[in-house]
Amino acid sequence: MRSCIACREKKTKKDLIRLAGKDGVVEVDTQGKKIGRGVYLCPFSECWETGLKGNRLEHALKTSMTWENRTTLLEYGKSLPEKGKTRDE
Ligand SMILES: [Zn+2]
Repeated sequence: MRSCIACREKKTKKDLIRLAGKDGVVEVDTQGKKIGRGVYLCPFSECWETGLKGNRLEHALKTSMTWENRTTLLEYGKSLPEKGKTRDE
């Protein structure tokens, strides 16, 4: 089990999206195969917003991100569904 760095919910790997950080670049690792330190986030926009706020992600990956890198990840997060909308629909 892995836990989301934003909401800290424990889930299996396939229910989370991996982010890999290497050489100061953080990438979305949809295949789970990228080399480097990894963290996990739920596939919901809220978790990405929370996870990308402040230096939570950078702290977990022990790296620093450029503004462009953060923006790219935030854009990816915006393309994901909202947590509240996936239930009881
Ligand atoms: Zn989460």
